[in-house]
Amino acid sequence: MLRIHGPLVRSVFLICELAHYFRFRDELTIHRRTPGHFGNVGPPFDHCHFQPQCISGHDRFAKARVLNSNEQHQFSLTVGDILQDQHARRLRHGLNDEHSRHHREARKMPAKKWLVERYVLNGNDALALHLNDPVHKQKWVTVRQNALNLMDIENRHETCYYRTPRVNTLDPILSYLRSHEPERIALIRQFVECESPSDDAAAVNRFGDLVATRLRGAATVRTIPGGRFGKHLLCEMRLPGRRTSDQILVLGHLDTVWPLGTLRSMPFRHSDGRLWGPGVFDMKAGIEFFLFATRALRELDLPVKSRVMLQLNSDEEVGSESSRALTEKNAAQSKAVLVLEPGTGLEGKLKTARKGVGDFQLIVRGTASHAGVDFESGASAVLELARQLARVSAFTDLKRGVTVNPGVISGGTRSNVVAAEARAEIDMRVVRLRDAAALERKFRALRPLDRRCSIELYGGLNRPPMERAAGTVRLFRLAQKLARELGVELQESLSGGGSDGNFTAALGVPTLDGLGAVGEGAHAANESIVVSRMADRAALIAKLLAAL
Ligand SMILES: [Zn+2]
Repeated sequence: MLRIHGPLVRSVFLICELAHYFRFRDELTIHRRTPGHFGNVGPPFDHCHFQPQCISGHDRFAKARVLNSNEQHQFSLTVGDILQDQHARRLRHGLNDEHSRHHREARKMPAKKWLVERYVLNGNDALALHLNDPVHKQKWVTVRQNALNLMDIENRHETCYYRTPRVNTLDPILSYLRSHEPERIALIRQFVECESPSDDAAAVNRFGDLVATRLRGAATVRTIPGGRFGKHLLCEMRLPGRRTSDQILVLGHLDTVWPLGTLRSMPFRHSDGRLWGPGVFDMKAGIEFFLFATRALRELDLPVKSRVMLQLNSDEEVGSESSRALTEKNAAQSKAVLVLEPGTGLEGKLKTARKGVGDFQLIVRGTASHAGVDFESGASAVLELARQLARVSAFTDLKRGVTVNPGVISGGTRSNVVAAEARAEIDMRVVRLRDAAALERKFRALRPLDRRCSIELYGGLNRPPMERAAGTVRLFRLAQKLARELGVELQESLSGGGSDGNFTAALGVPTLDGLGAVGEGAHAANESIVVSRMADRAALIAKLLAAL
């Protein structure tokens, strides 16, 4: 717990943190004499708006400096004598003065009383930090809560050291992965810069070859033809330890949604504590995480009991038509499936459930006629489609997680012609498999309202939902326990999007998804991953492989 020595007792600690505060593990140096605001702290500020102006009016504020420039810290701290010589009201909006008592005490209380033993602030503290991250906008986190994560604060003359041993800095896998960060970033860059859109088999194959090259010596790699798509990779990893007959399947995909040439407008870059570029988050970083996780296991000689198979599909982003059977075959022989898709949100939640995804094409055929001369003999397909879509949209049941979205419509030829044909593409999502069957029945029961029109329906459920099954929850609990050893509190989530994990979960094989990168912007221009979470995510994958 917190220990405070010497004149630091006069200071107030403002701890600003991101979602992963506990991963702050080395030391920060605080120069109390530095005027101005919090300078080059770096990473925390990409999500965190500390509002330095709220205190920069006071010229004795601290500047937090990261001691080890190789490290990405999740904390920034400031130490100052604000309670001694600045009234709380001067703090303006950056520090939230929730209780009126705070004002009075700030003025007359010796600062010492604010620093109750083992806590930074006492029970009446009302200081809060204004956090502004893209996921939870404007969240308030009390200083005291965060301060509980601080340990051993010592004052050495003008310099204070902060440490938090909650993170096991001795974890060999974590240190291995941290120490290889520059090399890891270089590899992710290489992956991102080898573009691989699903519909370009040659490009996907190029990327597959690159991954295979990087696996040389570490795995036996087989390629499986993907028909009109690129090749799929199936790799049996060489890992230390004696094998049982169990198998773990690790799933990922080689393809991205980005067309060739995207790099010109969206080049790979490393800035603001993130890596940016097409496909970096979904899911080239995830592949790299697995590669380095297994490399750590090999180099540290940590035994793995199960046979580990890595399967990388070439067509995931377009429905996995050519890889599905392979995925299901390998999953059926496995006791667990780990999916390298990105985590949810900037917390990197794992995915223990995913919605099932389907799509329908609804085609209406009517009778064309001249809208002026011969209106009555026409039967409008456009009108009929519009009426059908109104019906279809009523199938949505948000409470049950059932959604129906007519996303694309087309039809007709000219405004003065009664339309002979119209069509719609409709996306459907369900949380439960039985809802999918019910929904399909409803779609199939659609009949034309205008009897002169006819309806054709194509499609159906493409990916079954990944329901939150007991086996998956057990896997998640294990991951949660292992993550705690790394200083990370893992959460789970339900994703509206599908992945190849949907297929494996539907077979009843425990499937844990979202083990890849922490970041945001999948399929979007802000696609990026958080560099400071690269180590713990890859370490978690390694620990899972060793524990299963
Ligand atoms: Zn993906």
